[in-house]
Amino acid sequence: MPHDWDWSCLTGSVVLPGDPSYNIDRTNYNTRDTRSPAALVFCRNVEDVQNAVKCVRAHGIPFRVRSGRHSYEELSLMDEGLIIDISRLTKAAIDPTTDTARVEAGMSQQAMWNLLGESQTYAFPLGTMGGVGIAGVLQGGGIGMLTRAFGLAIDQVLSIQLVTASGNVVEANATTNPDLYWALRGGGGGNFGIVTAFTLQLVHIPKLAIYALSWPTARFPSVMSYWQHHAPTLRDRRLTSQLTFSSDGSGSLHSEGVYLGDLEELRELLLPWIANCPPPHPVRIEPLSWFMSTVYFNSFDSQCNHPFKTTGAFVYQPLPDPALASIQKAITSAPPRVSCDIWMQSFGGAMADVPSTATAFHHRQAQFILEFGGTWQDRNDTDACQNAVQWTRDLRTALREYTEGSYVNFADLDLGSRSTGNFDYLDMYYGDNAARLRAVKSAWDPDNLFHFEQSIPPQGAPPSP
Ligand SMILES: Cc1cc2nc3c(=O)[nH]c(=O)nc-3n(C[C@H](O)[C@H](O)[C@H](O)COP(=O)(O)OP(=O)(O)OC[C@H]3O[C@@H](n4cnc5c(N)ncnc54)[C@H](O)[C@@H]3O)c2cc1C
Repeated sequence: MPHDWDWSCLTGSVVLPGDPSYNIDRTNYNTRDTRSPAALVFCRNVEDVQNAVKCVRAHGIPFRVRSGRHSYEELSLMDEGLIIDISRLTKAAIDPTTDTARVEAGMSQQAMWNLLGESQTYAFPLGTMGGVGIAGVLQGGGIGMLTRAFGLAIDQVLSIQLVTASGNVVEANATTNPDLYWALRGGGGGNFGIVTAFTLQLVHIPKLAIYALSWPTARFPSVMSYWQHHAPTLRDRRLTSQLTFSSDGSGSLHSEGVYLGDLEELRELLLPWIANCPPPHPVRIEPLSWFMSTVYFNSFDSQCNHPFKTTGAFVYQPLPDPALASIQKAITSAPPRVSCDIWMQSFGGAMADVPSTATAFHHRQAQFILEFGGTWQDRNDTDACQNAVQWTRDLRTALREYTEGSYVNFADLDLGSRSTGNFDYLDMYYGDNAARLRAVKSAWDPDNLFHFEQSIPPQGAPPSP
């Protein structure tokens, strides 16, 4: 039932149904489902965020928090309620005396790359797609092409500013509110309050090189076998790599990586793989600036909104032959009008140095991550939608016994939701860290103001221990 909310308690820019920008403003990157919020408020500053929190609290208005709009399941949107959008909070400053940056949480990854690129000095280990918001990435973990060298993005987060459920502004870091600081690095967005700023430890990258290799798709088992046994366990942690097997067109199988060193060292590292799985095309190995490497890896994702269903899983032991056969069968029998792919990125290195209880990100000892799913062109193509969803479910089922858990930033409602009473997602995303996350939730949001389909429940609420 539509409600007649009074929005006068909001400050910032309020957009209502019927306003010219409403349709654009309510659209996320994933266009699979159309959501019709009662209103959206684009906050201009922290006070607007505080007012929004006080407003929804006082009037019992359901709401979601949004920044970069890239949630896989559109968890930053909802029907009827209010969308509190912080994407206009984009002030940023670098402090060269401490090699740190204070950045507002509405920035996209692209805005971060631009900021650091202009500095010509610094880099930061984010994900690979420019449109993704740093607010989502930095609360869920943040994996990217510098993960083996510098760890997860959250490992470089020094301090976080948050508007709490009571509307207060607090800072969370190693000495102030350390429980919140722990939970906000890996607990996923939208659980504890609204993040408005981060202090980040920047890194220096003297030299960088990239490689690109591709093979005929029939070579998948041997290419994957080699990659999964070597990429995550390489002693040289300066190399992070990805491998993609896709049904696109006549299919493709390719791998790329970032190496923090010079060309010859990278060539040496790749030689055994190239000898083992000779690619038919020339190997691309070239030096690149860090900024240009972000441009290159950004080009692998569509920059346009479109419908998709995607999920993820962590791999702790190399996948056995039957699992590889399941993947090959799935990709080569993708449904019509659906482009399916499976992507993996190597872990290990600096990411695995940090204990899995040091932050809320549990799956640090995984060897690599899988992401797989389907995209289609026309959001009204219900057959393509159903087929893509089923394809993703079937492959998840086929790989279940060989994989563990899932990445909170690859949100998948098939793993459970509050409304179905299936809380399996807590174990899948957080493993042994789930209980502590619930304790932090109880301390900071005991009334569960910040709830959504896959939120962390306070202690005492279902599910019972
Ligand atoms: C094309 C694509 C490429 C991706 N590549 C990578 C990658 O390389 N590495 C990686 O680690 N991940 C990657 N992801 C996953 C990405 O990290 C998550 O989807 C992330 O949650 C998106 O954040 P957002 O701010 O863009 O999304 P939103 O949809 O705005 O928000 C995501 C979640 O965070 C919450 N949230 C948003 N802003 C705030 C805030 N200020 N305070 C509190 N909660 C908030 C929302 O309520 C929602 O639950 C990718 C996703 C896509 C679609």
